[in-house]
Amino acid sequence: MITFRDVSVVYPTGTKGLDGVTLEIPDGQFVVVVGLSGAGKSTLVRAVNGLVPVTSGELEVNGQRVDSASKRELRRLRARVGMIFQSFNLVTRVSVLKNVLMGRLARTSTLATLVGAYGAANREIAFEALERVGIVEKAYVRASQLSGGQQQRVAIARVLAQQPDVVLADEPVASLDPPTANAVMRDLRRVQRELGITTIVNLHFLDLAKAYADRIIGMRAGKVVFDGVAADADDAV
Ligand code: ADP
Ligand code: ADP
Repeated sequence: MITFRDVSVVYPTGTKGLDGVTLEIPDGQFVVVVGLSGAGKSTLVRAVNGLVPVTSGELEVNGQRVDSASKRELRRLRARVGMIFQSFNLVTRVSVLKNVLMGRLARTSTLATLVGAYGAANREIAFEALERVGIVEKAYVRASQLSGGQQQRVAIARVLAQQPDVVLADEPVASLDPPTANAVMRDLRRVQRELGITTIVNLHFLDLAKAYADRIIGMRAGKVVFDGVAADADDAV
């Protein structure tokens, strides 16, 4: 469960990224956040893993208070929260497999994984993640050799290798062409359903949101202006 209680985020510039947001996201839900550029979508997802500090209110992720978390608590939280970005954020000069193994590093950060000695168990988890997104045959290819859609699937596999409770995806398909964007959303939705991971995805386009979301949250000027099911979401943006 992710709970926002009257959460505001004020940036050092004085801009309000979030303005009194109250929300409850139960375990296993696939939530899509929609809104125009600057509405606060990115701030909302980044607040969940403490990338953006909360100015006032309470934010709790699976029983852990994020707004008042210590550095150590934040580290522990982030090990269980996977992040997917618009720009994929892969290390493109190394193999797909190595990129996915970095998801294990995010989870375990033991000395052995830090020096790259991942071990058989981690490799098995990484291969399983690649299989889930249908890209296992690219394991030993350099990430730079892949198309955008394939790179985003690798990023999804990297997050899955982290074995997260929560996945945050900030405009994951914004740099892909529409058919590829649809295919990546379909994959993300399928693995989310198979594994039951609570997922928050930011999207620009309402039609994509309506096609995949359990629940749509519409934002404007840092506030939640819509919260409901896809069928009612025509005025969400
Ligand atoms: P969205 O993801 O919907 O485009 P953001 O969460 O990025 O919206 O931004 C919400 C508001 O906060 C906007 O007015 C934006 O300009 C502002 N903002 C975002 N990041 C920063 C930052 N690092 N410093 C100052 N203002 C920011
Ligand atoms: P490096 O060659 O720098 O170790 P790679 O990205 O090629 O990096 O490989 C990542 C991991 O996969 C390493 O542990 C490597 O030993 C192993 N590996 C590389 N190629 C193969 C292969 N064809 N079959 C099995 N394991 C491989």
